[in-house]
Amino acid sequence: MIPTPTISNDSLGNGGAAHTLPLVPSAAGSWKRALLPAYYAATWPLREWDGRRLAAQGRAPIVVVAYHRVADDRATRWTISNREFRQHITWLARHFDLVTLTEAQRRIAANENHRPTVSITFDDGYADNCREALPLLIRRQIPCTYFVTSQAVLEDRPFEHDLACGMAPRPNTPQQLRALIAAGVEIGAHTRTHADLGTVTDPAVLRDEIVGARDELQSALDCRIRYFAFPFGQHANLSPAAFALAKENGFDGVVSAYGGYNFPGDDPFHLQRACVDGPTSRLKIAVNLDPYKQWKIRRYEYR
Ligand SMILES: [Zn+2]
Repeated sequence: MIPTPTISNDSLGNGGAAHTLPLVPSAAGSWKRALLPAYYAATWPLREWDGRRLAAQGRAPIVVVAYHRVADDRATRWTISNREFRQHITWLARHFDLVTLTEAQRRIAANENHRPTVSITFDDGYADNCREALPLLIRRQIPCTYFVTSQAVLEDRPFEHDLACGMAPRPNTPQQLRALIAAGVEIGAHTRTHADLGTVTDPAVLRDEIVGARDELQSALDCRIRYFAFPFGQHANLSPAAFALAKENGFDGVVSAYGGYNFPGDDPFHLQRACVDGPTSRLKIAVNLDPYKQWKIRRYEYR
């Protein structure tokens, strides 16, 4: 059993009403969102054909998806409801091999993959995920990697990106993370302060955010931390120095979040991920080979 949070958001002293309002999507955002199902339907025959062709050739992509917060209240752009999450998992489990990051890397390194494959990850470390989302995955024995920002979870600090929206959902507690580890969830590092590593030039700060975060999580949770997730995860938020540091210090892999598919034969150390916090059509577009994304998204070259 994973302990659920016991401290209400109001106890943070941010007032009640303001942060209970959902974040209103922009007009352009809601317009695009409304078109997603139609876009998916129109491109489905091409995706289906491409997916089958690549699987037959042993070139099926290994897709890594990222969630942040699953909750029914105080929705931000990085929150999806429990109902939507259940729909995602039901659909994913029906159509894909759901694997650990280690198995995803193995399939990439093997240079051959005949099965549509997805690996599930979470970023940040929100207590709300322990209410329904993580128990659902654990019950169904679906693996996931759970990246946490060490200062948030070890010092109970809300995230700056939530405070900027007038909200402060609680981070996970160390007790919850230990329960997740006991249930087979892999914990990964997501910096100490949720820093944008693309802007960090001081080597000592970079080390603190990557190696320091790993070391303090390992000693607080008494587990091995093998993977690192870049906050924000776009090209601009990555740096060759950060990749080098993670590699030299024994991480098994790092993940970005600008979208993109991992194919057999790609670099297994850097797993590209797609954020799928949103309706099921967004998930389907992300994991079923998207012609536009394949054309548009370029792999970040760190070497
Ligand atoms: Zn993050």
